Amino acid sequence: MEIEIPLSVKVSVDEDQVNINDVVRAIGKVLQETGVHLLKQVLKQWEERTVAALCGGVVTVGHRRKGSRGRDCQGRKGWIRKGETGRERGFTTRLGEMKLRLREMKCRDCGARLRPLLG
Ligand SMILES: [Zn+2]
Repeated sequence: MEIEIPLSVKVSVDEDQVNINDVVRAIGKVLQETGVHLLKQVLKQWEERTVAALCGGVVTVGHRRKGSRGRDCQGRKGWIRKGETGRERGFTTRLGEMKLRLREMKCRDCGARLRPLLG
């Protein structure tokens, strides 16, 4: 997987009495914010590619059949898009806190729902 994210950053430092530590602190803040931004962008693009591949019939994924404990479904009839979750879901990562709405799909065979980012 390769995803390209165009990026522009702005480092803000007060102009009076600036020293190296002030600049390092300002860059650290930008890096932290940029890391979360990049993470969200990469996840959303990866999620869209996965949803497009599954709903376009390019690939499918086996899963637990809805309503049948212990039985698997191979998703052979394909998947349909069900939009995004109503609420944002929070994640704590090494790069920081982030919130995302997750895309959801529904199996045409058994009706099971799948959120690709959650596996
Ligand atoms: Zn299914």
